[in-house]
Amino acid sequence: MKNNPEHLPIWIAGPCSIESEEQLWTTAQQLHDIIQRDGLHLDFFRAGVWKTRSHPDSFTGLGEQTLPWLEKIQTQLGFPVCVEVQTPEHVELCEKHGIQTIWVGARTGVNPVEVQKIADAVSHKPFTVLVKNPIVADLKLWIGNVERFLQADVQKVMAVHRGFPDNKENVLRNAPCWEIPIALKVHFPDIPILCDPSHLCGQTSYIPQMAQIALTYGFDGLMLECHHAPQKALSDASQQLTPSQWAELVRKLQFPTNVPDRELVRQRALLENVDNQLSQLLWQRMQIVDEIANIKKEHLLPVVQPQQWQKVVERYHQQEHDELYSRFLDQFLPLLHQYSILRQQDDNSYIES
Ligand code: PEP
Ligand code: MN
Repeated sequence: MKNNPEHLPIWIAGPCSIESEEQLWTTAQQLHDIIQRDGLHLDFFRAGVWKTRSHPDSFTGLGEQTLPWLEKIQTQLGFPVCVEVQTPEHVELCEKHGIQTIWVGARTGVNPVEVQKIADAVSHKPFTVLVKNPIVADLKLWIGNVERFLQADVQKVMAVHRGFPDNKENVLRNAPCWEIPIALKVHFPDIPILCDPSHLCGQTSYIPQMAQIALTYGFDGLMLECHHAPQKALSDASQQLTPSQWAELVRKLQFPTNVPDRELVRQRALLENVDNQLSQLLWQRMQIVDEIANIKKEHLLPVVQPQQWQKVVERYHQQEHDELYSRFLDQFLPLLHQYSILRQQDDNSYIES
């Protein structure tokens, strides 16, 4: 790991909400000065114009009047601005004020009808669209939302992982469920995926650790909330970094390089060999299961024989291994058993794909 990679991560920073022209400008200018001073870079300055808050009494943003303030940030500080939109009217207003990067928030993302309206509004236009994960942990819904913007042929689409609320008293505000953004990355290998550690963590103390995990997993960048005086913020006060805390974090984070390592190439070849053997062995196992099925049928023996399966499980666990491998076996062996049973039933045509 190095912290001077050839492919720079995408950095997005800015306040959760615009609260006044002064707050917006001070935050943006401090970020600008620190970036100049430390030789950093910012790809987009984020700012909440219209806020989708859970409670009706919460601050819902200052709306349209803030758009000229954002235009000034673009022209005077040179930061491309990105904002959350919830309706086609928001898209139209952004267009009118020269804002070409928008994002779909986690709450809007749960409603494909609303997402499609936004996709139609940006269709064939030079917009960059960031699609946050919906608040429900539903990979297909997130994939579908990304797909709507790809089909709308916008200039660029990116995804943002901000975690999933699970109504548990967790340390983090939202559960990372890393397997979901990783599955999205596998599904769309060419789409950059960013992490939003601010909403993931809910408080600044956990941000460095989660940000580092995301970069180590291979996320393409980070969206971080940043406020010149977070303690006074009207929304998400506990999770916003000051511009200098943001710069300190950016300087400390390490990102993987994309340079292939000779040792890695050698290990990959070994892995390929093991995978080939595993694949053949698994298929061979299935065929033996089919033979056993015939014998059971002939002698009217039950398909499910728990004691027999117990022995199989014990055999796998006998081999020396670590805790994580035990957890893998706990998930893998029931699946193996389930499919062995399905193969032994005459009619398994109902199996879901
Ligand atoms: C935000 O980024 O300001 C925001 C509201 O995020 P999310 O939609 O992820 O909650
Ligand atoms: Mn926020």
